Amino acid sequence: MAKIQVLDKSVSELIAAGEVIERPASIVKELLENAIDAKASAVTVEIKQGGIGFIRITDNGIGIAREDVPTAFLRHATSKVRTEDDLTNIATLGFRGEALASVCAVAKVELITKTAGQELGSRYLIQGGENGTLEEAGCPNGTTIIVRDLFYNVPARLKFLKKDFSEGNAVQGIVEKIALSHPEVSVKLIKENKTVLHTSGNRDLRSAIYSVFGKDFATGLLPVNYQHNGIRVSGFITKPACSRTNRSMQHFFVNDRYVKTRTGMAALEEGYKHSLMVGKFPACVLKLGIDYSLVDVNVHPAKIEIRFVQERPVFEAIYFAVKSALEQEDILKSQPKSQ
Ligand code: ADP
Ligand code: MG
Repeated sequence: MAKIQVLDKSVSELIAAGEVIERPASIVKELLENAIDAKASAVTVEIKQGGIGFIRITDNGIGIAREDVPTAFLRHATSKVRTEDDLTNIATLGFRGEALASVCAVAKVELITKTAGQELGSRYLIQGGENGTLEEAGCPNGTTIIVRDLFYNVPARLKFLKKDFSEGNAVQGIVEKIALSHPEVSVKLIKENKTVLHTSGNRDLRSAIYSVFGKDFATGLLPVNYQHNGIRVSGFITKPACSRTNRSMQHFFVNDRYVKTRTGMAALEEGYKHSLMVGKFPACVLKLGIDYSLVDVNVHPAKIEIRFVQERPVFEAIYFAVKSALEQEDILKSQPKSQ
């Protein structure tokens, strides 16, 4: 027998799924992004046992037509990208066509969905990446996906998950970030039967921040609104007096996608350089609007890491935006209060 062989599809599917899905939070991220790409105005996420036992995500988006349902679960099946050119101009959160295929490879999935054009919706059951069963179902417009027993067929992975409590917190972290990146969508999280987060969807970023991080954080903010090098920087940074002891509250979004960016963090801190004591860190919810062709989101399967075609203009835009917001605050403070 030849020594080198192409892996069995069931094995290669598990490997591929492992890249996209590490833990319940990765599933919630992918499914929430799908709901937003489907133009939902309201999404509810429900988890039990930290999401390991049960995740249900319900949206009021465009739904999936019955004839498309089984295809949606195939790897590299997507309605969002067609050509190579599309890859350089990605305006949707998803594009790899991997999330549903990955989720159904490592969990038991139930999908209930209906488009506005169909009288009856569809229900699809699929697990372990096997062929699913499709039937008609009465349901409202939109999509509900239920994911049960994550990694039921990959015990090695299951073992590496943390306690329910920690996994649930990681889910909450992701839901918070997506709620902040889309204040136009009302996002609700029910964790172990308790509503722990609910944004209004009224488009106002400050009110989304209030719902997610609470009143104290929301009142210590300075608005940022700046344009430089063709990059728009908007959102909020903390007043120097409200700075923090670590960097955990530095949140960056590029074209409404939550990202980790070292350039962003460095530029933010440089902007505060003379305003903060050593050991204190600014916090922010900063959104960058940048031409899609200047960002490569296709660096990592989870799409959290991105690359800018040029880092320098991005650094400058954030730096000047922060400087200008802090100066504005100084001017306001130095003006005598009107009676
Ligand atoms: P991607 O998001 O990269 O296209 P996914 O595997 O996440 O890949 O989803 C495959 C396809 O299924 C999507 O392109 C979309 O057409 C459809 N889909 C998935 N989730 C939803 C949803 N909540 N509402 C409507 N369509 C959906
Ligand atoms: Mg997707």
